Amino acid sequence: MEGVTIAANLHAARSRIDAACARVGRAPSEVELLPVSKTHPVSRVVEAQAAGYARFGESRPQELRDKAVELTGTGIDWVLIGHLQSNKAKLAAEHAAEFQALDSVALGEALDRRLVALGRRLPVLVEVNTSGEEAKHGFAPADVPAAVRALGACDALDVRGLMTIAVNSPDAAAVRACFERLVDLQARLRDAAGGGFDTLSMGMSGDFEIAVEMGSTCVRLGTTIFGARPSSDR
Ligand SMILES: *Cc1c(COP(=O)(O)O)cnc(C)c1O
Repeated sequence: MEGVTIAANLHAARSRIDAACARVGRAPSEVELLPVSKTHPVSRVVEAQAAGYARFGESRPQELRDKAVELTGTGIDWVLIGHLQSNKAKLAAEHAAEFQALDSVALGEALDRRLVALGRRLPVLVEVNTSGEEAKHGFAPADVPAAVRALGACDALDVRGLMTIAVNSPDAAAVRACFERLVDLQARLRDAAGGGFDTLSMGMSGDFEIAVEMGSTCVRLGTTIFGARPSSDR
């Protein structure tokens, strides 16, 4: 594909986000399009950056680190959106501008220690398993309030909201049910916190318009922007 294709894909996806906002009376500025560059070479990231995007999602901490090092000085911010093991916390602490898949308090504490040592703070989202699928990461919805309270003690973590991956299904009602769980949970936690906690990362290539209609503030788009990946499970 040529450079114009990525720019065109970004433009088309942005138009669909804006149209979804219009359908429900939301301001387009409330919704970030986060291009997900995992598995794609940095040359594609550079093309997307030229089209006006400066934040990119990556699932694997090593790949995020490698790309961050390769593109040092370009002003790109890397958002870790995939599972992180505690023994890789250092990679995220050093190279991520945001972490959207915090799925255990112990991991949060490990990350916090690394960040404190580096003198950094990191915006994080708590990942929620809204589909109940065994294979998915994330806290069960019922466990989220206690986890958010516990994570509040981590000084270097700036807990800004929630993230989820909906069930991968052609059944729009099933997808909506996942997003609805996240929205309800976020509303309760935001009210309890008395403000803040307003980021909702939900929606991927197959379901982002539904997510935007339901209140997403960040859609994570890989395939729609960069094309198919070598393997579809990551
Ligand atoms: C890969 C990935 C995406 C992007 O998926 P697409 O369906 O290609 O848009 C979004 N979120 C997470 C957490 C991912 O791992």
